[in-house]
Amino acid sequence: MQIGLGFDLHRIKPCRAGSIVVAGVRIPAPYRIIAHSDGDFVFHAAADAVYSALGLTDIGDKFPAGLAKTRKMNSRLILESAMRELKKRKRRLLNLSVVIAAERPKLGPYRQAMRHSLAETTRLPPGKIGITLKTFENLAPLAEKAVACWANCLIK
Ligand code: MG
Repeated sequence: MQIGLGFDLHRIKPCRAGSIVVAGVRIPAPYRIIAHSDGDFVFHAAADAVYSALGLTDIGDKFPAGLAKTRKMNSRLILESAMRELKKRKRRLLNLSVVIAAERPKLGPYRQAMRHSLAETTRLPPGKIGITLKTFENLAPLAEKAVACWANCLIK
């Protein structure tokens, strides 16, 4: 068995009637995420956790920012790609745990949708996906300027 760890952080920009994509779920927010792709920081961290467990390089290496092909990219494709690498090596994902840090909006109402979205892409049963929701405890500048995610997985 191998454990994998991934992390991602994105800057945010205030935006009236903005929205963010978190684990594939679009959520209204008073800001938007600054990113070359769709900025789905949970998919980014989860993909890096899988790559890391496989001893592969990270998503910055595989899906470099600044290229036309990664511009506004649907980040679900990145996690799908990591899952293909897993399958190619005849390995299996046992569980995935993510910690999401965002000051606002409250993500609790979206937890189940995020869990099912992650389950769909990883083919894990929803019960093998942990989603922990945190804030930055109002600590500036993180609380006002960033969202982040840590992801952990175990593979066999
Ligand atoms: Mg990212």
